[in-house]
Amino acid sequence: MKPIALPAMNPGPMTGEGNRTWLIPGAPAVLVDAGVGEPQHLAALRRALDDGGGTLETLVLTHAHPDHIAGAPAVHAGWPRARIVKYPWPEMDARHAVPLHPLADGDRIAAGGDELVVVHTPGHSPDHVCLWHAASRTLFGGDLLIAGGTVVIPASRGGRLADYLRSLECVLALDPAVVLPAHGADIERPAELIRGNLAHRQRREAQVIEALSSGPGTPATVAALIYERLPDPLQRLAEESVLAHLVKLEEEGRAASDGNRYRLT
Ligand SMILES: [Zn+2]
Repeated sequence: MKPIALPAMNPGPMTGEGNRTWLIPGAPAVLVDAGVGEPQHLAALRRALDDGGGTLETLVLTHAHPDHIAGAPAVHAGWPRARIVKYPWPEMDARHAVPLHPLADGDRIAAGGDELVVVHTPGHSPDHVCLWHAASRTLFGGDLLIAGGTVVIPASRGGRLADYLRSLECVLALDPAVVLPAHGADIERPAELIRGNLAHRQRREAQVIEALSSGPGTPATVAALIYERLPDPLQRLAEESVLAHLVKLEEEGRAASDGNRYRLT
């Protein structure tokens, strides 16, 4: 399997240099994520397929965030015979006028003369999946991991930290040799990054508890104690990350909330 990175040409504050979609050429060809429908991205996909890449049979969407799914109608228009598959997230999926076929954990997708296994990895979003190629121990990681950093858990929009931590443990157990994420560079030592991410979340949780120890707080007031003030929309993401920790603490009975205000129990 020789996956080809096809940049979605959508750089921005939320996407960094922009998304990378992944073409697995061969019989059949599979595209991982749709990008946003940028003509240059679609032209590069067309060239890669024409240039011996094979026939596109399946478009797999790692999750329903716009930078991964918004281009699905454009891909559908260009390759109407390709099946579009994703793990269901009904209220988000309904926003896109394309036929979506449901995936489940453990499903197998024929790709480039081999197969990918669907690994449901909720947390960043409820519908998030990674795709596992066992022979090469390659994981298509979507937004589960990012080289040199941590991903956002958008707690007010379907993100759930407890699920995310379980998903990291699940991928750690697979012991991938490389993770090919949707943003940033290839991850060559995934176990190291995952262990680092788990430790980071634990430190962050300790900081949130510390911030609440002097009295109740909202995601914004706790974020102000933990983070340097960031420019929007990054400040909003910092508050979302704090909220993700507060929700987890509440689920575990370690904090209680009264609307937007949280206190330690
Ligand atoms: Zn995402």
